[in-house]
Amino acid sequence: MFRLTSTPFTSICTRTCAFALGLAVGVPASLSAFPDTGYTDTPYVKDLNWNIRDNNGVPQTQKSPWHVHDPKRPRPAKVAGGSCLTPPAPADADVLFDGTEASVKSAWKPNAPKQTLWKVKRGADGATLVSGSGDIVTQKSYGDAQFHIEWRVPADIDRSKWQGGNSGVFLQGTYEVQIYESHSVDIYADGPAASIYGQFPPQVNATLPAGNWQSYDIIFTAPRFDEKGKLLSPAWVTVLHNGVVVQANQPLNGPTRWRNANPYKKHPQRLPLRLQYHGDAVEFRNIWIRDLDKIKAANAQAEADVLAKRKK
Ligand code: MG
Repeated sequence: MFRLTSTPFTSICTRTCAFALGLAVGVPASLSAFPDTGYTDTPYVKDLNWNIRDNNGVPQTQKSPWHVHDPKRPRPAKVAGGSCLTPPAPADADVLFDGTEASVKSAWKPNAPKQTLWKVKRGADGATLVSGSGDIVTQKSYGDAQFHIEWRVPADIDRSKWQGGNSGVFLQGTYEVQIYESHSVDIYADGPAASIYGQFPPQVNATLPAGNWQSYDIIFTAPRFDEKGKLLSPAWVTVLHNGVVVQANQPLNGPTRWRNANPYKKHPQRLPLRLQYHGDAVEFRNIWIRDLDKIKAANAQAEADVLAKRKK
């Protein structure tokens, strides 16, 4: 069984042995290599149904028929033909990585004191940011946002230490859009690339083979809480993977947890974005984010200014 958490090395042996077993019987590193990947000793996914409320207006949860990381949950269908989108950063975006060390130093910091910033690698196809030495977080905090990122699992990944090219985009450091080499490696339905990890499989699997650049375009609406911590509105996420819609305005059940399903807990309206290091050297390029809170506030101020003049 796989273990997929922020603790990278715990079950390497288990995975390596499983992979080696696949090789021993002539099974390629394909969907049949890990036929039983997943867990059944986990809680059931608790889907938050925003349309059903109790008398106090609290949205109700509905027990999903699937365990968190359920091996029997149907995998999303593979869809070929998507390709990495590479839009340049719009003028109102915060550039988080443009190929320069300066952009890394100005936009990011290590997630923990003893860790270091990820390194920039210069290769034949340009400069890339390579994950390593723990997670990194943005220096600035964000709420509602549009986020673009391109990532690549190296084609020459050391498959004897196979971990699946695991990384992840943790929106507000809390809600993970998974990064994973799920073109050739089977994983439970709520674990491949572009899954809301542990909650929602992508609608389809648009993952390209390792060695290809891939893109995520993410539109995120942050959850809202009242002053007492009551959830007023959940987080909502739309994800395009290689130009293919795979999460469409999906309300999230709560924070990302490995093998568990936790409810929302009040947090600040704006928090840093986090990129995950899971023991695999995943590469990144062209990362930017648009602060939709700031843009909406500017528009609201412009409208208020016009209305104030109208009253005079
Ligand atoms: Mg991950």
